[in-house]
This record gives sequence, C-alpha cells and structure tokens, in this order.
Amino acid sequence: MTTTTTTTTTTNSAPTSTPTLPLPGACACGTIRFHLTRAPLFTHCCHCTRCQRETGTAFALNALVERAHLALLSPTRPVGVPVPSDSGAGQTIFRCPACYGPVWSVYGDGANKIAYVRAGTLEGREVRPDIHIYTRSKRGWVGFGDEGVPAVEGYYDNREYWPEASLERLRILREEGKAVGEAVGESGA
Ligand SMILES: [Zn+2]
Ligand SMILES: [Zn+2]
Repeated sequence: MTTTTTTTTTTNSAPTSTPTLPLPGACACGTIRFHLTRAPLFTHCCHCTRCQRETGTAFALNALVERAHLALLSPTRPVGVPVPSDSGAGQTIFRCPACYGPVWSVYGDGANKIAYVRAGTLEGREVRPDIHIYTRSKRGWVGFGDEGVPAVEGYYDNREYWPEASLERLRILREEGKAVGEAVGESGA
C-alpha cells in the first residue's frame, strides 16, 4: 500500500500561539492580575460537557503553560475550587475571591506543574486554539472557522499533535520529577 496524504492536519504540525510576552491576564473585576512569561505549550478548545457547565457556555479555551511561567501580579491570590473530572483525579479551578470568575485550573493534585489558563482572561487576540477536543459533545451550532486546526472526538495523544518545542518543554518538566498528570494525553477534559 502506498502512503497517501490525509485530509486532516496532525502530527506535530499545528502551530502554537506566539503572543507578545509577557502576556497579561485578569479576572472580570481586575482583582486577580497575572501574566504569562512564556508562550503556551498548546491551546485546547474543549467542547466537553464539563467545560460547558463550568463556563456556562459552549466550550472552554485553555492555554496550557508551565506554572513556573504563570506569574501572579496582584496581592490577592485566586482561590482553588475542587471539581470532579472524568478520570476521577479531579480538577482544581482557581477563581477570583471577589468576582468568582475562573482564571486557570490544574488537573490532579496540587503538584501538577501545568496550568490550564482560561484564554478569555488573556489580553489581546493572539492565543488561539491548536486543537478542538471532545467534539463529540460540541453544541450543534458550533462550526470551526479555523481551517487546518485538528479536531478530535475525545482526548488525544500529545505526541501526535504538540510541536517538538512543546514536547521538549514537557520532557524537561518530567526530568525534573514534577507531576504533569493529565495535562499531557492520558485523559481528562
Ligand atoms: Zn475578579
Ligand atoms: Zn473540557
């Protein structure tokens, strides 16, 4: 059998967002202010039903970044609120204690070194989805105008989709012995 070109874009070809750094973010009321000091590893547009309920809308846009590159600028810290996850490991959503808006979350226990930053809290328009996940539960009217961005029915193997530079950053986290857990392809929505 000969190799044929597939119609979907996969295999480490998805470009990641390249925002101007540091990239500022804030909650709705401005009590929580932070910035990213490195571009996201990868950005999920998640259409799972948990994200729909957690956000109260059709999907969540999560920019994955090392927590070491997520710097809190405000004197007030966000409050971690535990919620269930499909894997059973749980998720902690960090929310502003004044307006209760979500700013980021982590999967698994508090040692997880990758934050899922709610990209709608970030300034500017440079962070965009690198992949659509859990499209099996996407709202029927949602269409994808971002041609070339992969879309998968459930979760995915990050080795198939992340650019090499992001995989290298992940390897460094693992070599440091830091938990990365569900952020990286095992499961979790
Ligand atoms: Zn707030
Ligand atoms: Zn989700």
